[in-house]
Amino acid sequence: MTSAAPADTTVGFVGLGHMGGPMAANLVKAGYRVVGFDLAPAALEQAVKDGASVADSSDAAVADADIVITMLPSGKHVIDLYNGGLLAAAKPGTLFIDSSTIDVADAKTAADLAHKAGHRAVDAPVSGGVAGAAAGTLAFMVGGSAEDFESAKPLLDVMGAKVVHCGDNGVGQAAKICNNMVLGISMIAISEAFVLGEKLGLSNQAFFDVASNASGQCWSLTSYCPVPGPVPTSPANNDYEPGFATALMDKDLGLAANALRANGVDGQLGLHAAEIYNRFKQENGGKDFSAIVTEIRNRSGESA
Ligand code: NAD
Repeated sequence: MTSAAPADTTVGFVGLGHMGGPMAANLVKAGYRVVGFDLAPAALEQAVKDGASVADSSDAAVADADIVITMLPSGKHVIDLYNGGLLAAAKPGTLFIDSSTIDVADAKTAADLAHKAGHRAVDAPVSGGVAGAAAGTLAFMVGGSAEDFESAKPLLDVMGAKVVHCGDNGVGQAAKICNNMVLGISMIAISEAFVLGEKLGLSNQAFFDVASNASGQCWSLTSYCPVPGPVPTSPANNDYEPGFATALMDKDLGLAANALRANGVDGQLGLHAAEIYNRFKQENGGKDFSAIVTEIRNRSGESA
């Protein structure tokens, strides 16, 4: 089915928000017939400007689809839609690709529901943010059978620069939350080191110059440095405008914490990082997640 030319493939796209909107637009540009739906009228208007057709319900958007992509806020949204008529509205054997970031358990439930309804299903969460969605350079982490992965891949290649088959249904989400758990922990670690260095009379630039060439080197330091200066493109140089918002990091760490607990993993740093970001989110959800360094500095009081 997906080996057909894009113009012969109809994609039902549900959830045309910050991520889904530009992803759908890239499919249109590549020649796919896209029928979209979103609850927000502004998202529908943008989709029309981008050359997609829009439907007046999610069920109508998927009725003629060969492939359905969902890009929704949470697992509850995905499962409620799947149970609420979306699966029943689709043609038998439709491939459902859920690219939302959701709980591993919810991803497995969603795939089970799709299979029981006679469809095919993969979880294909992304990293790369809104900029990656617009540029078609997302990274996709895919969970599902090898056959369904191969069917999904031509579309994912249009929307992304890197597409990895991680394993069975749910394992794409597992890759996403494991990666973002490392990211949350490493950002806190780097931020604590900067603030400790400041207390000890070590300049931010000197710490950067040492650690970026030593064993403390990591992405949170060298690509996304949480203090202004050393990496000019990092959000720290732009008053912590996201980037990757704290609210999204809080969500992903919450999913990681759920998975740690559900699987009996002694993930003390993952659980603690989830608590730290959850507290920070209460008043700073819209700031970039690297602003956690300001919180650590504020809670550390005046220099000794
Ligand atoms: P968003 O809130 O901008 O978009 C979600 C869209 O879903 C909204 O437009 C909303 O109206 C729509 N929606 C909700 N319920 C619906 C329903 N029943 N029917 C149709 N439409 C419905 O969120 P986003 O930033 O696009 O994120 C989408 C997903 O991608 C989330 O799971 C998020 O965690 C994940 N993600 C986001 C980013 C990012 O940087 N924004 C990066 C990676 C992953």
